[in-house]
Amino acid sequence: MNDDPQAASRLRRQLKAFLAQAQKNERKLQRFQEQEVAFMAAAGLGELLDTLFTDYPHRFRLDAVTLRLVDPDHEIRRILTELERLPDPRLQFVEVPLPADTAPWLGPLTPAKAQEHFPGLPPPASAALLPLRRQRRCLGQLAIGSARRERFITGSATDFMARLADVLAVCIENALNHERIKRLGLVDPLTGLHNRRYFDARLTEEIGQARRTGRPLACLFLDIDHFKQVNDTHGHGVGDRVLQIVANTLKSQMRLNDVLARMGGEEFAVLLADTDQATAMDIAERIRLAVAHGTRDALPFPVTLSIGCSTLADEATSTPEAAGERLLEEADTALYQAKQAGRNRVALHRQSEAS
Ligand code: GH3
Ligand code: MG
Ligand code: MG
Repeated sequence: MNDDPQAASRLRRQLKAFLAQAQKNERKLQRFQEQEVAFMAAAGLGELLDTLFTDYPHRFRLDAVTLRLVDPDHEIRRILTELERLPDPRLQFVEVPLPADTAPWLGPLTPAKAQEHFPGLPPPASAALLPLRRQRRCLGQLAIGSARRERFITGSATDFMARLADVLAVCIENALNHERIKRLGLVDPLTGLHNRRYFDARLTEEIGQARRTGRPLACLFLDIDHFKQVNDTHGHGVGDRVLQIVANTLKSQMRLNDVLARMGGEEFAVLLADTDQATAMDIAERIRLAVAHGTRDALPFPVTLSIGCSTLADEATSTPEAAGERLLEEADTALYQAKQAGRNRVALHRQSEAS
């Protein structure tokens, strides 16, 4: 044991400093994680930009944030103009692709560099310039600035910042793709889900894929029970809200490769690639429960679904279009059986029953 009181108090001070540093690091990590979640939770491009330009600088005490996007054919500018997000000095565009291997840059800004990266804004004293990398491309650059000259110095938390920029790049690309799909007329405006047109196109594609790979393909047809009563009792506006809540619940139950669409009215369909009958029935049951429980929290009256399930038959003689139609019809037949059997349940179309 060391009985030198000076040494002991020095040790205590050191320990305290270590602890303080560890706590500071943890808070920093937490802040980055919260920001990632906020980017990922943004419902669309507009909300993502609000998060980037309002929530992000506030959380990290930044004095300026700008986004530079590669937009050779002015497509992104057209989308942002339609969303009434332009002109905005924080959004800049370049015509030529940025090198895919650009590394983050941190440091004090010369007036010229401040003008280049933060045009039309009060010039920050230091900045971090972060590439928005996506696979092997660079979508653009995020520039964050501080009035403090010593804020961004080489080496400080660059990994965290670069990672956050990577997450932002994925979110920007997803949001842009969603806007592109909307413009192609493949999205239902009430729920934000894909529509029947999109579903039909994907159905043909997925059947081709299932036949090529020999993997199973399942289809679910979903219909809200007694939905007419909701409209009749509570009004059409509440009916619309129910459709949105059900759509969001369905969305939350989907995996990345599943295809979900609103087929019309209170009817939805799901395509489950690489999913056999037993798994599809489990997923259907999980969806049924999620809707029954999710709506219980969100609404003062119960909302339930009936679900029909079918799987792609082995035959490969029909065209993909005809096979798709049949798969959907069989799920619809099973749905009818679920309704007949009392609703709020899942029914399966068995291949052996097919004529
Ligand atoms: P079941 O359990 O047999 O499915 O009964 P149901 O009442 O759900 O079925 P039905 O087909 O009789 O009624 C569907 C209702 O959905 C009728 C229609 O007015 C309503 N509906 C369709 N599209 C919309 C919409 O976009 N918004 C609202 N609020 N209602 C809609
Ligand atoms: Mg119906
Ligand atoms: Mg119905």
